Amino acid sequence: MNASRSPLKSLDDALVALLAHAVALSHVETVSVFEADGRVLAQDITSGLQVPPNDNSSMDGYAVRCADVPQAGELLQVTQRIPAGSTGEAMTPGSAARIFTGAPIPPGADAVVMQEDCEPVGEGSVRVNTVPAVGQWIRRAGEDVMRGTVVLPKGERLTPASLGLAASVGMHQLPVAARPRVALFSTGDELVMPGTVAPQDMKPGAIYNSNRFFLRALLQRLGCEVTDLGIVPDKRDATLDALRAAAEHHDLILTSGGVSVGEEDHIKPAVEALGQLDLWQIAIKPGKPFAYGKIGAAHFMGLPGNPVSSFITFLLLVRPFLLKLQGVSRVATNSIAVPAHFTWARADKRREFLRVRRNAAGGLDLFPNQSSGVLTSAVWGDGVVDNPPGRAIAPGDVVQFIAFSELLS
Ligand code: AMP
Ligand code: MG
Repeated sequence: MNASRSPLKSLDDALVALLAHAVALSHVETVSVFEADGRVLAQDITSGLQVPPNDNSSMDGYAVRCADVPQAGELLQVTQRIPAGSTGEAMTPGSAARIFTGAPIPPGADAVVMQEDCEPVGEGSVRVNTVPAVGQWIRRAGEDVMRGTVVLPKGERLTPASLGLAASVGMHQLPVAARPRVALFSTGDELVMPGTVAPQDMKPGAIYNSNRFFLRALLQRLGCEVTDLGIVPDKRDATLDALRAAAEHHDLILTSGGVSVGEEDHIKPAVEALGQLDLWQIAIKPGKPFAYGKIGAAHFMGLPGNPVSSFITFLLLVRPFLLKLQGVSRVATNSIAVPAHFTWARADKRREFLRVRRNAAGGLDLFPNQSSGVLTSAVWGDGVVDNPPGRAIAPGDVVQFIAFSELLS
């Protein structure tokens, strides 16, 4: 069937079809916890100890036995001093232990009184000016992690907080999925690399290659190892050569531009000559044309050339694919309900991803120009509204917002 006449595919169907091809890469690496931010855990991490290891004080103050302080003003003998990192002795009746945050509670003590509520009296005594409740200011052993619990499951993408949690159970290295190897190139004879021609010397019809910069950065944020093949001319032979080279030793070949069916669009016939290709017209705006195929063992994805289309299709399709290749268990993007503070009267037949920004009043403002070539919208915006087909938006309508912070991490 002629691709230009094939029916539009819904984004959800496209995602299901795409993810069915994303078989997790089997290669696992062991990396230092210092290097593991953003990587995907390849095995469950189970704790061999409890955290914290002992009951300990959450205040600087005095450990006491509540039975010794039935009323405010009791005088106790300070018989020991327990800084963090040391352990105390069993409490004798009528005694208090000077204790500091993080130090283990001595056997027999059942509360900590903060130093602000105590008054040292002479040599080695303290007056306790409140009546303590059993358990107060004590952090319980194992309240964070119990021995034997899975603290971080396989398929979890590591964050700075998860690195800290892994370290808290004694891990200094972690097994993570290998980085996907991605070959990237842009197509288009109009493209010029910034730095090679000054703005005032640009020929008519020439534009700077912007997609290459955000695509490479997006890939790197997702943990990929990128081979950047630069700009490939709009010629069949050059396209074939670039694809052949890219198919070697890469898990994914990612291109931008040239996936329409114009006679200057060489991606489709070239991928078909070397492997298989499905050209999809996805019912989203921006970003209609999208190609998925395979050349040998390498996956192929062709993004549209218009910068915002390229950016959005990457986030909605390529990103979940690359996460699944790394074994991530949850790849769905989360949206939240937020009121629109704008009007969108010209609803499209396609599902739209409108560039918007949260305002201080808790609503969303719309970038005025939603054209697929206007990259300023994606910089001004801090996310998109996922707007169903045919739905007009009036101020106050609750819409589904997807934050870029969610999509770009
Ligand atoms: P194409 O998908 O090749 O038909 O390109 C669609 C539009 O996107 C054209 O206006 C191209 O000039 C523009 N375009 C294609 N690739 C890039 C790129 N790498 N950077 C900026 N604009 C591009
Ligand atoms: Mg082109």
